[in-house]
Amino acid sequence: MKTNQFTMQDPRSQYQMGQTEKDSEQPDPGLDEILEPTADHGENTYVGSDRLKGRKALVTGGDSGIGRAVAIAFAREGADVVINYLASEETDAQETLDILKASGSNAWGIAGDVSDEEFCHSLVSHSVEKLGSIDILVNNAGKQQFVDDLEDLSTEQFCQTYATNVFGMFWITKAAVKHMPPGASIINTTSIQSYQPSAGLLDYASTKGAITSYTKSLAKMLIDKGIRVNGVAPGPIWTPLQQSGGQPAKKLPKFGENVPIGRPGQPAELAPVYVYLASQESSYVTAEIMGITGGQHLP
Ligand code: NAD
Ligand code: MG
Repeated sequence: MKTNQFTMQDPRSQYQMGQTEKDSEQPDPGLDEILEPTADHGENTYVGSDRLKGRKALVTGGDSGIGRAVAIAFAREGADVVINYLASEETDAQETLDILKASGSNAWGIAGDVSDEEFCHSLVSHSVEKLGSIDILVNNAGKQQFVDDLEDLSTEQFCQTYATNVFGMFWITKAAVKHMPPGASIINTTSIQSYQPSAGLLDYASTKGAITSYTKSLAKMLIDKGIRVNGVAPGPIWTPLQQSGGQPAKKLPKFGENVPIGRPGQPAELAPVYVYLASQESSYVTAEIMGITGGQHLP
């Protein structure tokens, strides 16, 4: 029998990854194309049921990892999707767009850097040209570079992590809200790092703390327009972000094994919560952060 996201099974053994296989590294930004072992984005398993029929979605960082899984699930639920990514990620983006189109969705890619305010404005205006409106905005693009010693953490990296993870989200949201009708949903990707920050991720963890507070404050502002705003806080998820400097090389083999479920999560395991938060099923949910952490749990 073909399995899908509903198939009952033991979550501990749902995915098996060897430690030695997890130790490869790649340059930043990482690519799914060369991620070893490969990740599951629900390509072969996510089955939709019109939960987002006719909705128009913009997903940043939609080429790979969590963003790719979210874009696939949205497309299978009947949404049209624009994905944003960096120009150097074109191969991942094209693969994602092929899957979205094969799922029956209208899908477009827009390359560009969300740490640039002007690009954020043009991303929103071009998305609206293609989609007609924005019903779902997923601010998911993120930069994570591990630096062990405070002395080695440069001002340039600190500012670039903030510009990518926090400022971009502000610029895109501010431009997008004008095109969002009542019933629309904004979903920001924060992190377990917002609640349990690691040494070595000073810039990254603190951006995620900012995103958590930003999400709750924005939710209280935008409910006046009928727009809900929530966040998702992933635990350790197997994506190119981790192999491309997000984790120190020595930590990669055991990545994700210290959580109660005992293994890293896969992007496919995140997508259903984004679908829930995007759809009308979550009509009474705003200013909330949903943890998908393998049992590490939010406070
Ligand atoms: P990923 O590398 O697949 O996705 C991150 C994406 O961010 C990239 O694909 C890239 O397109 C985009 N990006 C980075 N810098 C950008 C820039 N300047 N302009 C435009 N796009 C840019 O990795 P992922 O793990 O799927 O990351 C998605 C989100 O999940 C990020 O916000 C990350 O912080 C968050 N997250 C990941 C984990 C994890 O363990 N993988 C845990 C918690 C939170
Ligand atoms: Mg990518």
